[in-house]
Order: sequence, then structure tokens, then C-alpha cells
Amino acid sequence: MQVPSARIVFPEADRAEIASSVSGILASGALTLGAYTREFEAVFAAAHDTPFGIAVSSGTAALEIILRALDVAGSDVIIPTNTFAATGFAALRAGANLVFADVDPGTFALSAATVADVLTPSTRVVILVHIGGLITSDVDAIRALCDERGIFLVEDAAHAHGASHDGRPAGSFGTAAAFSFYPTKIITSGEGGMILTADERVRDEAVIFRDQGKAGFLGNVHIKQGYAWRLSELHAVTGLVHLRRLSEFLEVRRRVAARYDAGLDRIDGIEPVRVPAGGYSNFYKYLALPRPGTDRARLKKELKERHGVSLSGEVYEAPLHQQPAFASYAGGNLPVAEDLCARHVCLPVHSDMTEAEADHVLASLASALETLAVQP
Ligand SMILES: *Cc1c(COP(=O)(O)O)cnc(C)c1O
Repeated sequence: MQVPSARIVFPEADRAEIASSVSGILASGALTLGAYTREFEAVFAAAHDTPFGIAVSSGTAALEIILRALDVAGSDVIIPTNTFAATGFAALRAGANLVFADVDPGTFALSAATVADVLTPSTRVVILVHIGGLITSDVDAIRALCDERGIFLVEDAAHAHGASHDGRPAGSFGTAAAFSFYPTKIITSGEGGMILTADERVRDEAVIFRDQGKAGFLGNVHIKQGYAWRLSELHAVTGLVHLRRLSEFLEVRRRVAARYDAGLDRIDGIEPVRVPAGGYSNFYKYLALPRPGTDRARLKKELKERHGVSLSGEVYEAPLHQQPAFASYAGGNLPVAEDLCARHVCLPVHSDMTEAEADHVLASLASALETLAVQP
């Protein structure tokens, strides 16, 4: 049996519906910022209990627009060092100084303590990244710490479609949140992103920024330095149709995760990362930590070559402060993130994964870890 690292699930009925809608869009000539985009925004915002959704061309654009709307130029923006490069790039492109923070080993996320460690008088925004779809139970403490100091909390929710904590969905914890619809994300529109916010000013600015800084769609008065950050109607309808699968996908992923939880209890040398009490993860990633000293590259090779199991991509393989493109922002002591990045693995989870596949992953993992233990 082969288990790939990821599988993008578009059931036949969805493909047919999208094809038919795309044909209608092309016939209508309304190709961008039209009715499908407005519906996608409304449905996605409602699914995350948030008043406003602003669809954009990518998750990276969503982040940059939020940061521009919050006027970060010249200020410090705190991000966890174990995040995707786009979190850092968006802050730099919005003119901010990047400050890397360490994370909590239990959640791979910022904590109030790791944020407090790197706060400066110039901190304007803290970006909380819901790594793997897991929302830290420290989210309220982080928000309180930000509120006390007039700092904005922004969620990088690129991994967190449909995830929640204490019944509150991703996207509802900060001043604004950025979601991505890149193909590997839980819901995809091919390419695309979404800003969620309850803040009318952020909503209004985002609408202006995404369309070349124009005061309105039909006019030609540019009141801000915006960019081509629109989402096309073809992408919007793709995302809209895919979004209807969200609860079904989450159910499948959570069943697989429960099987992994139970299975890993019986396997030596690896510990799952548990979802905090009150948390509801979408299992964008299923995170686990092999015992220190385990050769991850060898484990992955063994799984792939002998068992046909490809692990999912790490989140992330190396922290940003160790990436060449961020070399000039390096510095600071970030030992927890360094250890997590070097050591963790992500078991494959697909939105249509079968129990047999999950069991094959578990059996393969047990066997591969045993092989590594007897031939170190
Ligand atoms: C995917 C991702 C992004 C960027 O989204 P794009 O749609 O690819 O631009 C930003 N942050 C994180 C954490 C991501 O995983």
C-alpha cells in the first residue's frame, strides 16, 4: 500500500459543478470581484463566526494587507520563528522590523511568556500562527497581553480552516486573520486567500488595498498604494464549492487523528502532540515527536522505501532565523523552536483517508522505529 504525503480531494460532483459555474462566469464576462467572490466571503466569514471576509489572491497577500491596514511600517512585528516564510515576508514587505519569538513545546505556538520575552516599546503587532491547525490555549493570555499594551493580535490561520478553541473558531481571536487557499491547505481555491475581521476599518482598508488602492471598484481614484491582490471569480467559485466539504473533511481527519492517538500509545520512541483541552483541531497536520536522537531523515527514508509511506511536510523543517533569506534578522535565543523543527514529524492525513491507510501508517512507523533502534 502506498500512502502519499498529501492528497487533494475534489469529488466528481464538485468538479462538475465548478466546471459548469466557470462556463457561466466566462459567458457572463464578470471575471473578478463579482457575485461568487462576495458569496465566498460571506460563507467563509460565517463559517468562522466573523462578520467580514475579504477575498484576496493568496494567504501571503492577506497577511500583507492586514499589516498595511494596521500601519506596521517602522514598527516591530513579532512572529514565531517556526512558521512559513510568507509570514515573515509579508511583515517585511509591509515595512516592519521582524522580531522572532520562541514557542511553547506543547503547541508549537507562541505563548504569553515567549511573546513577553521579545516585546519592545516598538511592538505593534503579534502574529499568532495556528501551526498544524492547533490553537493554543494561551490564545486569551496572548490577547490580554497585547490589549494591555495597545498591540494588535493577528492570526496567521493558513492552517486553521474550521479549527476552534473553547467553541470559538480560528479567525475570531485577533484584530484580523489571514487564511490561505493554496492547494495543500484544508480548503483550496487553486490559489487564494481570505482576510477575516470584525473591525470595519480593517475591512474598508483591505477592500481598497486589494484592488490597486482604488477608492471604489468602478472609479479610478487611487487613495492608497495598493496592489493586484484580487481573487478571480473562477477561483472564488472553486473555493466556494470546496468549502461546502469543510465539516465532512474535518470529520475524516479527526477520525484518522483519533486512530493515530490510540496507535501511538502502543509505539515506543514517539509521542503525539496532544490538542489542548477545549481545542478542536482540523488536523491540517498530525504532529508527533520522535525521541531525541532519532534520525528523522533516515526514518522518512525507511518509511518511504520499505513501507510506501510518505510523511507530510514539516511545519517547519527549519526555523526562519536559520533560513538564508532571513539571515540579517537572525539573533536571539530560540532553543525550543530549533529543537521542535529539527525533530518533529507529520504523519500523513488526507481528507478522504481510509482506516486501512491510517493503520498501515501506524504499522509502518512501529516497524521503522524498531529498525532504527536496533541499527542506530
Ligand atoms: C500557506 C501559508 C501561508 C501563505 O499562503 P499562500 O496562499 O501560499 O500565500 C502563510 N502562512 C502560513 C503559515 C502558511 O502555511
